[in-house]
Amino acid sequence: MATLRFKAIAETFNRKPQPVTEAERRSAVFGSNTFNQSAMRQYLTKSSYNAVMAAIEKGEKIDRDVADHISTGMKEWAISKGATHYTHWFQPLTGATAEKHDAFFETTSDGQAIEKFGGGQLVQQEPDASSFPNGGIRNTFEARGYTAWDPTSPAFVYGTTLCIPTIFVAYTGEALDYKTPLLRALQEVDKAATAVAKYFDKNVTKVNATLGWEQEYFLIDKALASSRPDITLSGRTLLGHSSAKGQQLDDHYFGSIPSRVLNYMRDLENECMLLGIPVKTRHNEVAPNQFELAPIFEEANLAVDHNSLLMDVMDKIADRHNFKVLFHEKPFAGVNGSGKHNNWSLATDTGVNLLGPGSTPMKNLQFLTFFINTLKAVNEYEELLRASIGSASNDHRLGANEAPPAIISAFIGSQLTSVLDQLEKVKSGKLSPEDKTDLKLNVVGKIPEILLDNTDRNRTSPFAFTGNKFEFRAVGSYANCANPMTVMNAIMAKQLKDFKEEVDSLIKGKKMKKDDAIFNVLREYIKDSKRIRFEGDGYGEAWEKEAKKRGLSNNKTTPEALKAKIDKKSISLFEDLNIMSKVEMEARYEIEMEEYAMRIQIEGRTLGDIARNHVIPTAIRYQNILIKNVRGLKEIYGKDFKSYATEQMNLVEQISEHIANINKGITDMIEARKKANKIEDAEKRAKEYCNEVKPFFEVIRYHCDKLELLVDDEIWPLTKYRELLFTR
Ligand code: ADP
Ligand code: MG
Repeated sequence: MATLRFKAIAETFNRKPQPVTEAERRSAVFGSNTFNQSAMRQYLTKSSYNAVMAAIEKGEKIDRDVADHISTGMKEWAISKGATHYTHWFQPLTGATAEKHDAFFETTSDGQAIEKFGGGQLVQQEPDASSFPNGGIRNTFEARGYTAWDPTSPAFVYGTTLCIPTIFVAYTGEALDYKTPLLRALQEVDKAATAVAKYFDKNVTKVNATLGWEQEYFLIDKALASSRPDITLSGRTLLGHSSAKGQQLDDHYFGSIPSRVLNYMRDLENECMLLGIPVKTRHNEVAPNQFELAPIFEEANLAVDHNSLLMDVMDKIADRHNFKVLFHEKPFAGVNGSGKHNNWSLATDTGVNLLGPGSTPMKNLQFLTFFINTLKAVNEYEELLRASIGSASNDHRLGANEAPPAIISAFIGSQLTSVLDQLEKVKSGKLSPEDKTDLKLNVVGKIPEILLDNTDRNRTSPFAFTGNKFEFRAVGSYANCANPMTVMNAIMAKQLKDFKEEVDSLIKGKKMKKDDAIFNVLREYIKDSKRIRFEGDGYGEAWEKEAKKRGLSNNKTTPEALKAKIDKKSISLFEDLNIMSKVEMEARYEIEMEEYAMRIQIEGRTLGDIARNHVIPTAIRYQNILIKNVRGLKEIYGKDFKSYATEQMNLVEQISEHIANINKGITDMIEARKKANKIEDAEKRAKEYCNEVKPFFEVIRYHCDKLELLVDDEIWPLTKYRELLFTR
């Protein structure tokens, strides 16, 4: 049934051009659909405005009657933007965002209709949330979870709905979403980092974690994408022979953006501007039809919300342009996959980037303090960091045939390496005035303010220092950034707390000067965290061996990787910092294991269906054509026919072999799935899916892809790689 495929292609070329309206000046519309400071000033009384600002800046609680005022102002503003409904917008553990729309409209007892939205509805709601994953925390029949307003992320109007960013928690207090633990981690890193930053500047009262994500994605023609059941159901191609041309010519990367795609990007960026998502950069990526979008960095909680919102907006705008966006980490075999680099740093309320080298020795000591503490934190918790980015789809990048590897290491560049080497030699105990002058002049004072050009060269490192921030590159393109950001900020909080304690005890106990104490602790940290530093090629086999010697983890699959989420060390980390309890962590672990198994199950079923319903019948049809041909040749040439029919008979045989192998693969895979499905325990089931079911994918695919090369193109039912990747 090639009709589907050809219909899809025909639709593609008959598509109507999308009109794109020219944007107003971006700065003028930026954030105009968000309830930002200027909207609040206009729609709120001074005291309500101050209450929201105090909640944002100092985490203060908002009183119920103040909330009534705020909700009224917010409603008026939203209606002025065309909103008719409102929703609590939250991020349940499905990875997607969730919303349930309610109209502002209400009727009164005397039958009048009014627009209503009270403080109660702003502050708290009870979505019937029984079918969101909860890892057994809530009995489903109870369905008692509630959403609560997060004033630090501004409400926004999206379409005709006022969206209020919220957390989602069970009545018993456990977090059921991504945002709650993130907010707790951010609070902890703020406390710990502020205390350390005060060593250098007493005026610091708050430290924000900053995040600038870079979103990679594929943009595929919608008609072509929907002609592929595998893309539709699993977000990636489960089979398909490589196109003769892929990315080998490097002619796509940073090339001129195809005009249809550019129209999409413009439309998307305009929507982002309205929603206050500060997108800035766009370009082609390495693989054909792969692109990237990056914003200006923001406070981490807001940046996480913006990324989740962006993915939703991208989907919707793509639809308008007859595209489908693929966020899957590896939608096509043989060409690059997609990631979502998380650029992370810490910034003070005095405007200082704590991971940015400064112009004086003192500023640089501050920089080194935060820099070295980051390395120490990553060294201590490398395995947890790896766990934070584990998913069935990201497994195709990490530790598969593509970088970054599943081993976490940090790249810092040669200049900083030499600085750390020198600091490591600092004598222990109190420093003499000469030593200190020497250090300040020749080591700390010599760090150039702009390191950017010298540090961003190693593209194979999963965690690289890029001049004024660390770039966590192993995050998957499909992932919610909250997971890795919760871990990153939690481990940093813990590390900075420990650091402060150690420095203070040297100051008090050993009567050391502050600088001496800091140098002494940093020296030990440099020694302790050496194993995490790696400047070489992260893709090579040599690194795997070396990393093993160093005792670094190399968890290639999600079920292996997730283990670290519930080990003793991680549980005590999160419990000590009040970020998550053991119960919450175990629930999440179970949810992720379940999700893993389900994703592999869906892929397995889809692959089996396509292979049995599309590939094999087509191969048989083609084989019948060949057989008919051979019969015809025999009729004409009698017993000499063989010399005319060698190729055809050869093909008939090959086709039968491939069909037999596919059939066996599917049958065995189904057996393996049945076995896996009987396993009650989520962890064991995930492992079974990983080790016993997934391996059949490759076998089945191999033979299907071989058939794709043999069978007449005209009857091949599936849109091919060259069509998916080179239609634009
Ligand atoms: P690339 O990695 O492609 O070379 P850039 O160097 O332009 O990209 O920056 C990547 C991202 O880093 C951008 O989203 C940018 O906003 C972000 N970024 C820059 N400074 C910081 C910071 N201090 N904290 C967090 N993110 C930052
Ligand atoms: Mg980058």
